[in-house]
Amino acid sequence: MWSEGDGYVKTPIYEMRYSDGHNRFFIKREDLLPFSLGGNKARKAALFFEDMEKGGYDCVLTYGSSSSNHLRIVANMAASKGIPCHIVSPDFDTGKTNNSRLVDLFGARVKVCSLTEVKDTIRELNEYLSSQGYRPYFIPGGGHGNLGTQAYVQAYDEICEFEKLTGQHFDYIYHASGTGTTQAGLVCGSILSGDGKKIIGISIARKNPYGKEVIAESINAYLASIDFNAKVSPESVDFVDSYVADGYGSRNQEILNVIRQVLISDGILLDSTYTGKAFYGMKEHISKMRIRHSNILFIHTGGTPLFFDGLETGLVTD
Ligand SMILES: *Cc1c(COP(=O)(O)O)cnc(C)c1O
Repeated sequence: MWSEGDGYVKTPIYEMRYSDGHNRFFIKREDLLPFSLGGNKARKAALFFEDMEKGGYDCVLTYGSSSSNHLRIVANMAASKGIPCHIVSPDFDTGKTNNSRLVDLFGARVKVCSLTEVKDTIRELNEYLSSQGYRPYFIPGGGHGNLGTQAYVQAYDEICEFEKLTGQHFDYIYHASGTGTTQAGLVCGSILSGDGKKIIGISIARKNPYGKEVIAESINAYLASIDFNAKVSPESVDFVDSYVADGYGSRNQEILNVIRQVLISDGILLDSTYTGKAFYGMKEHISKMRIRHSNILFIHTGGTPLFFDGLETGLVTD
């Protein structure tokens, strides 16, 4: 894997052409991680697979929706290592997407169930695989958990390293926040390095107070796991829920306009569920908070197949 030993790959950080006339915008291209179109799920999954291999497991079990980037990455990694991949999904058959087509191509076995049956189905499948002589390794949906958090502590270190190398300083980091694992990792990285960057997650679906609570829990679980004596409160987490529009998979016109603008100015593909929504939310948040003369880093968390899902249904607006 690219994250092992000497092969460690850092994702590019550079200044965008995009501007709001008041601030400078930089971008960290997690979508350029060199496996299966990258993204934050690739960075997280690399650590889960490393852990799986250390533990001598021989098949992988995970969960996600039909548009899930996590499923694409896990199914691809499992296939590349020749390990069977089992997936539980609530809507896999009904909502074909570019990601679900790729999951099919990788030969993952998908068990569809209703949303309320997910937990039981995972447990039953786990028991069944064990009874067949397998040692299944479970990866939580979206790569949630301390290993997922760890992946973004590492990404945060890359950001600090970039700052040291270039003398550039970032005042704000913005990114799309879903399960909050990415945000938890960035916040932990910031706590561990002792700098005061503001890390602002734009919620793609969850509302507060729940959104903040989950992130604070992830942060505290990770810090406890490394015996770091600190705790954060949910109130201290910058999880902004004002731009979820019509929820997951939204096709809000203003979001589509931002996607088109960034595609034209910078040649970067964003999607309306994650990165495009976050970019739009960032833009609105900066203007609402009257942020000026700041260096802003946007983290592109991946999801390129979703750009093409969106393109099929029309990105062109008037
Ligand atoms: C999953 C995902 C997110 C959200 O990451 P979390 O760690 O779950 O908050 C953001 N962007 C993209 C493209 C994703 O696939």
